[in-house]
Amino acid sequence: MHFSFEPLTLKTRHVFAISRGASDTFGGAIVKIEDDGVVGLGEAAPSAFYGENRGTVLAVIEHLRSEIPDDPFSLEEARRRMDALIGGNPAAKAAIDIALHDLVSKKLGVPLYRFLGLSGEKTPFTSFTIGIDDVELMKQRAVEASEFSILKIKVGTDRDEQVLDAIRSVTDRTLRVDANCAWGPREAIRRISVLEQFDIEFVEQPIAPGDAEAMRFVRENVSVPIIADESVKTSSDINALVGAVDGINIKLMKCGGIREALKMIHTARALGMKVMLGCMVESSIGITAAAHLSPEVDYADLDGNLLLKADPYAGVEIKQGRLVLPSEAGLGVRAKDDSTS
Ligand code: MG
Repeated sequence: MHFSFEPLTLKTRHVFAISRGASDTFGGAIVKIEDDGVVGLGEAAPSAFYGENRGTVLAVIEHLRSEIPDDPFSLEEARRRMDALIGGNPAAKAAIDIALHDLVSKKLGVPLYRFLGLSGEKTPFTSFTIGIDDVELMKQRAVEASEFSILKIKVGTDRDEQVLDAIRSVTDRTLRVDANCAWGPREAIRRISVLEQFDIEFVEQPIAPGDAEAMRFVRENVSVPIIADESVKTSSDINALVGAVDGINIKLMKCGGIREALKMIHTARALGMKVMLGCMVESSIGITAAAHLSPEVDYADLDGNLLLKADPYAGVEIKQGRLVLPSEAGLGVRAKDDSTS
C-alpha cells in the first residue's frame, strides 16, 4: 500500500461564528491510501476545542501511518492500533479510517453504505446551519437557505430571542438551536424557556461538558429535548449521559472515524437515546463519509461543505433538503479538478 497525505485549507463564504469564536479559514489534511491502483481518500478537519489543529494532525498522521495493517480490510485492527499508539487526536485518526473505508468498499465495488449494510434510500433531511451574526443577516440567511426544510441556529448571545423572532417571522420550517456550551445551568433554563415560544425541535449543548447532573437539571426544567454534542466524543462518554440528555450528536472528527461512529450509534440505541450526525467545517470527503451513516440516524446536520467558498471535492448531494448518496463505489467522492481520485 502507498500512503500519502497533504495539508488542506478551506475557506468559508462568510465568517462562521459560534458562541465561542469565529473564523473563515480552516486548516486540515487529506489522506490518500493506494492499493493495487485503487485510491482511498480521507480527510481530517481538526477542531481546537478537541485539542487539534493542522500542525497536530499532520504530525499525528505521520506517526500513525506505521500502524496501518497490511490488510486494509482489518478496519477494527487499524482503529485499535491507532488508539494504542496515541490517545485523542480524533480528526487525524478519522482521516485514515475514512481513507481505509473508501479503499475497501471501492475494492469490493460497492458504495460505502452498502459495505456497512445500510440502505442508501433511507437518508434523512439535513439541517442548514446559520452562524451567529447580526439579526438581519441571520434572517436573510434563513430566507436564502430556502432549499432546506430544517435550519440550525447558533445561539449564545444577548440577541438570541430577537434572532429567533426574526427568523420565525419569515419561516415555518423546523428550527433547531445550538448554544455550544454558552450558558450556565440556571441561565440555560431561563434562556431555553424564552426560546421555546418559537417552536424549536431541540437544543444542542446548552452548558459546558463534564457535569451530567447539571445537564439533567436543565433537561428536567425545560420542555424541549436536549442533545449532547461537546459532552460526548466517543462511545465511552455515552453511558454517563443516560437520563441527562435525549440524544447525542456524533461527529467523525470527534470520535475518530466510521468504525467508532457506528459503535456510538449502536451504544446510543441500546441506551434508548436519539442519534444526531453532525460535522465540522469540512470538504465533501468528510461530509460524504458521514452521510453514508445517515440512514441510521434521527437527525442530520451535514452541511459543513455547503458553508465553503470553494469545495475541492464533490460527493453527497442535497436534493430538496435531503441527503442523496453517490451510487459509485466507496465514498463516491471525486476531486473537482479531477487530478486526485
Ligand atoms: Mg453542536
